[in-house]
Amino acid sequence: MPIYHAPTKDMQFVMHDVLKASEQDIPGYDELDRDFTAAVLEESGKLATEVLAPLNTVGDTEGCVLENGVVRTPTGFKEAFDQMRDGGWTALDCDPDYGGQGLPYLMHTAAQEPFVSANMAFNMYQGLTHGAYTAIHIHGSEQQKQTYLPKMTTCEWTGTMNLTEPHCGTDLGLMRTKAVPQDDGTYQISGQKIFISAGDHDMAENIIHLVLAKIPGGPDGIKGVSLFIVPKFLVNEDGSLGERNGVSVGKIEEKMGIHGNSTCVMNYDEATGYLVGEAHKGMRAMFTMMNEARLGVGLQGYAQAEAAYQNAVAYANDRLQGRDVTGAKYPEKAADPIIVHPDIRRNLMDQKSFVEGARAFTYWGAYLIDRAHKTDDAAAEGLISLMTPVIKGFLTDKGFEMAVNAQQVYGGHGYIEEWGMSQFARDARIAMIYEGANGIQALDLVGRKLAQEGGKHVMAFFEMIKTFIKDNAGQDAAFDKDFLDPLKAASKDLQTAGMYFMQNGMKNPNNALSGSYDFMHMFGHVCLGYMWARMGLAARDALAGGASDTRFYETKLATGRYYMARQLPATAMHLARIQTGADTVMALDAANF
Ligand SMILES: Cc1cc2nc3c(=O)[nH]c(=O)nc-3n(C[C@H](O)[C@H](O)[C@H](O)COP(=O)(O)OP(=O)(O)OC[C@H]3O[C@@H](n4cnc5c(N)ncnc54)[C@H](O)[C@@H]3O)c2cc1C
Repeated sequence: MPIYHAPTKDMQFVMHDVLKASEQDIPGYDELDRDFTAAVLEESGKLATEVLAPLNTVGDTEGCVLENGVVRTPTGFKEAFDQMRDGGWTALDCDPDYGGQGLPYLMHTAAQEPFVSANMAFNMYQGLTHGAYTAIHIHGSEQQKQTYLPKMTTCEWTGTMNLTEPHCGTDLGLMRTKAVPQDDGTYQISGQKIFISAGDHDMAENIIHLVLAKIPGGPDGIKGVSLFIVPKFLVNEDGSLGERNGVSVGKIEEKMGIHGNSTCVMNYDEATGYLVGEAHKGMRAMFTMMNEARLGVGLQGYAQAEAAYQNAVAYANDRLQGRDVTGAKYPEKAADPIIVHPDIRRNLMDQKSFVEGARAFTYWGAYLIDRAHKTDDAAAEGLISLMTPVIKGFLTDKGFEMAVNAQQVYGGHGYIEEWGMSQFARDARIAMIYEGANGIQALDLVGRKLAQEGGKHVMAFFEMIKTFIKDNAGQDAAFDKDFLDPLKAASKDLQTAGMYFMQNGMKNPNNALSGSYDFMHMFGHVCLGYMWARMGLAARDALAGGASDTRFYETKLATGRYYMARQLPATAMHLARIQTGADTVMALDAANF
């Protein structure tokens, strides 16, 4: 069975040495001292390792089953869900007015990471609930909040998000699900939604579906979409559960991975629904929670890579094949462990430097969300809005790539299900697709976010990198050469690409859109380069300050040097591609493919 242990030391390093969480002037951050976060992460790591990780293979092999209209989850899921609920893990950052613990989103994000690494499919049941909770919390009426949030905070009732229909995924303006107004102020919801994660299961008393639908007579296309609460069981005025609503599971989808999560076709037959927020403003309600939801999916990408990496390291130390070309390391053994080979090292360094950089990027994103929400900092809001498609798109693409790299360390054994490496890759793959396919993230970045408020946020991003380099250069020649110079070069590539879009995108939008995917990856590399420079500084300062764990900090510096030297130069390749414009991309007629 695959191993997993929570990398709490690294999580603490990011929260305290890099982000200096407890020193930040953000409500709730004064609670985040080292001892407190260590205790929380220790416990979430324990639950992940002892309870959730052993169920990962069970979920994969058993999957979910539809029996008499009800979905049965894999063996052990129900008990594990009770443990998660009882431990208060579903309520960490929820509003105390509705039973939550009111901790910062950063704490929630860090505590979630081990759960996602250990068992992504399982964790999605509470992840989707958190998304639905947030939408109701921001846009629901006080009565809706009182009715639904306390039970969703504890996950006694779970939540789902219903956007997709058979003929409409990316283009939600094509939606057909109808919401017909009733005399009592409710709506009658009819239509079919597909691919609904956690659509039904046996782990909660009630399921609160958030459904996008069109009110007849409203505006055409996306502007006519509204958001509704459609509970599986209607809720009586005293809060008890009433009759079954007109919503049922059509089937469970057979799929490539995350078998432990029920992906359902949901049929709505004149189900009772309650409008959330204003009519025809459903997409706005969805968008306000998108930064959080997409950050959560980005986390899934690197969290799967982390779990796969831990196993690859163990295997590389264990598997004996060939000899170290510079001389046998273990002459007494039949062969050396494969970790002696430079190509295995390259592979492991790619994984390690990505995962640690991605963790820092994600926690920084969570910190910016807290800053934006808790201090009304418009600059933080602008920055996280700009970087959200990068967090989602880059971290899930790379997360999958690294899970495949980890599989490669196992040779043929990585392809055999018994070792568990294929599951990491299969599970990681969906994160590139849902919550907006990655091509759409790139489109959002280049087509929308770059130009937002006259390009103010992207200019602020470049200014931030420039100031960081200026403030830290000239003190340590080796650090400049290893960290700051590569960051400067990569940031310049990114700026040049942005200029190319400005100069050529107006003439022909295809010039910008055919380079958008490269741009998203370039942006991701610059963000990870920036995080590595910050982590390098933190490690250097810790060593200079006499930190006792020199091995940890020296390893951190060496891993950072690797990323800067071997990964960051990818920006030059992406820039070269972008600068060729749309000509080669669009050269063929559709008939010639
Ligand atoms: C396991 C699983 C779980 C899911 N969970 C949920 C859920 O809980 N709730 C929910 O509502 N949905 C869910 N989804 C649906 C998911 O969000 C959609 O599949 C996704 O948004 C893409 O929509 P689509 O499949 O219809 O693809 P399409 O929209 O048909 O897109 C096909 C391809 O075309 C590209 N494309 C489309 N338009 C453009 C464009 N304008 N420019 C460039 N490229 C474009 C896309 O990037 C994609 O690569 C889930 C899907 C799966 C497989």
